[in-house]
Amino acid sequence: MTGLGQRGRSVDEVMAALAEKRTNDVKWADGRAFGMVYDGGPSVHEVAEKAAALYLHENALNVKAFPSLGAIQSEVVRWTADLLHGPESASGFLTSGGTESILCAVKAARERGRAERGITEPEMIVSDTTHAAFHKGAHLFGLELHKVPSKHDFTADVDAMAAHVNKNTVLVVGSAPQYPQGVVDDIPAIAAIAVEAGSNCHVDACMGGFVLPFAEMLGREVPPWDFSIEGVTSISADVHKLGYSPKGASVILHRTKELRRYQTFVFEDWLGGFYASPNMQGSRSGLPMACAWAVMQHLGIDGYVDLTRTTLENADKMRAGIESIEGITVLGDPTYHLVAMSSDPDEDHPIDVFALGEALERRGWFHDRQGPPDSLHSTVSNSNTGVIDEYLGALAASVDEVRGMTTEDRSTNYATLE
Ligand SMILES: *Cc1c(COP(=O)(O)O)cnc(C)c1O
Repeated sequence: MTGLGQRGRSVDEVMAALAEKRTNDVKWADGRAFGMVYDGGPSVHEVAEKAAALYLHENALNVKAFPSLGAIQSEVVRWTADLLHGPESASGFLTSGGTESILCAVKAARERGRAERGITEPEMIVSDTTHAAFHKGAHLFGLELHKVPSKHDFTADVDAMAAHVNKNTVLVVGSAPQYPQGVVDDIPAIAAIAVEAGSNCHVDACMGGFVLPFAEMLGREVPPWDFSIEGVTSISADVHKLGYSPKGASVILHRTKELRRYQTFVFEDWLGGFYASPNMQGSRSGLPMACAWAVMQHLGIDGYVDLTRTTLENADKMRAGIESIEGITVLGDPTYHLVAMSSDPDEDHPIDVFALGEALERRGWFHDRQGPPDSLHSTVSNSNTGVIDEYLGALAASVDEVRGMTTEDRSTNYATLE
């Protein structure tokens, strides 16, 4: 690494250096990454890139200065609420991503417990499959968290969660679907616990928010999971995942504006002036907000239904292919776009799936590693259209290659520091 030069470099030089830096990055554009970048196709790229260029410099810190960003936020939030059976009263904000939406939900639950029930030592209840961002929220906002082992099918163990309810419970969480194995929790039962406790119920639909509504339109079986369930008080849905917008856009929704009030922060006693903050950010790029708006407008319901159809076909094909290869299997019974592949527990000589992941990587296919149990994770999307057959060929060859082999490296890698 060299220091920042005294003299600047030309635009061309800078761009050439950046292009060079990207050499070892995952080749998502070839459909060889199962996660992280979701590719809605050429026209979705085009509309996002044009919106990005238009809003690259704008700041949504103060929507009085940029009323267009205020309108963009309201519209994306309303469209998302409509998709998730939100009542007329539903309201929310755009955030930078699923993590920020979840932090907002945890903070709102804590504030509501304090304001309405006088709770000074707030507690929340999650499954061991619930996203790590809820642990981050508990850590940041000082909540005690109860993490309950999931059932054999990897859905949340609702009875075991109910056993942790007490007078300090401010939040109960369900996922639709959860990330690790892609199965949907029993949201009606989880919401019922929250109603009983008098607490918030958050549904983490960061992954499913822009899949389940369209899967239902395609005639797939989708269990009730959204605002159609009375006890659900907030939902997070990521436009920057299967909403096919570039990174930096998620929606946090609350059932009513009164519930949303517990999320916001207002400070009126600063020499800099009135400070009202919808989420965790201060200065706030207009770019991802405008991209989310543009991509949703461009796709419309029909566009999302088409992308969901190809996504689910890709995932179904991948699951069937995995099950047809001796020695590996799919964990749980996921029916949407997430797949966790592990060694078949019934085998005498189990495959080391981390060694398998390395063999696949050598062939140019990238999965996240997770566990327990050791597994390779795929977020399947439209990005992978047209490559699944080739992938399954590489998978079969890789399984043969690693039979009887193990790798030293047992690390998992959902997110990394530097
Ligand atoms: C991706 C994801 C999150 C976190 O969202 P980020 O946008 O990565 O911050 C939370 N929950 C689930 C289920 C997710 O898949």
